[in-house]
Amino acid sequence: MTETPVLRVQGLKKHFPIFKGIIPRPAGKVFAVDGLTFEIARGETLGLVGESGCGKSTAGRTLLKLLEPTDGSIHLNGDDITHLDRTAMLPYRQKMQMIYQDPYASLNPRMTAGDIVGEPLIIHNVASGQDRQDRVASLFNRVGLRPEAMRLYPHEFSGGQRQRIGIARALALSPALIVGDEPVSALDVSIQAQIINLMMDLQDEFQLSYLFVAHDLAVVEHISHRVAVMYLGRIVEMTDKKSLFEMPLHPYTEALLSAVPIPKSGARGRRRVIVKGDVPSPINPPSGCHFHTRCGYATARCRTESPVLREVTAGHLAACHLHDGGVRFPLEAGG
Ligand code: SF4
Repeated sequence: MTETPVLRVQGLKKHFPIFKGIIPRPAGKVFAVDGLTFEIARGETLGLVGESGCGKSTAGRTLLKLLEPTDGSIHLNGDDITHLDRTAMLPYRQKMQMIYQDPYASLNPRMTAGDIVGEPLIIHNVASGQDRQDRVASLFNRVGLRPEAMRLYPHEFSGGQRQRIGIARALALSPALIVGDEPVSALDVSIQAQIINLMMDLQDEFQLSYLFVAHDLAVVEHISHRVAVMYLGRIVEMTDKKSLFEMPLHPYTEALLSAVPIPKSGARGRRRVIVKGDVPSPINPPSGCHFHTRCGYATARCRTESPVLREVTAGHLAACHLHDGGVRFPLEAGG
């Protein structure tokens, strides 16, 4: 029997209404997240990648129910949490935590590091007094911080140490799922590797599931088992890491990959692919395939018909018309 996934998201949408005028009237919507479907298994990391403004951070916040979904469903360990109110969500909140991009902004500057890490234990009535202190000291140890540092304030730590505090806080309630929202983007490259290695060690130890949100494919390559590529609110490609890096099936992924500086040994030679312009606005996304305004392979059909995300080869999903009618993609250089 297949194990129930820790997270199952089906057709998830988050649209933000826009109002205009002195007497505000609805004047459109921001299609931030527009129909995401994916699963994350126990102990698995799904990397969610795309340029700024593609909706990946909103997706992370929506599936954690920090934002109310517009449509679709969210199941945590098989339980439907889509429409639960704040009170009904409380037991599930313990099981899903977030690590933020900017560890400094996300930590209360007036609280000691020990109080920051121990706060969830108070909020959820899990431990108090010496028991709480002991648990916090053990969490400090586990993320590579000295327990004596519990007395210090956030400004007394380096960026990497602050992210370790954020990770310790996320771990305090023994979660099943952690959403990392660009958790290493604000750190120096050498520190990024340390934090990613720490997250991988913790995953092995506690069988954690991660959704690892990043704008850079190079960052998710090390930590992810599978990768989903997002463009303007939709997943355009999703597969295991090896297949994605060695044989991308979507022109947008090909372009993102061509910007990754170090080719893996065994990977096919990559040609440089430059995408034109910036990501269009999610307020009025392009018709048909959202990527057609920037895609070097676009045809007339791409301007009118939205491609469906479907399995092109075993376990490898892509949303691109090039895969209909036997066209092979990636095309050979010059093809
Ligand atoms: Fe490019 Fe068309 Fe494929 Fe969209 S459907 S990625 S525009 S070829």
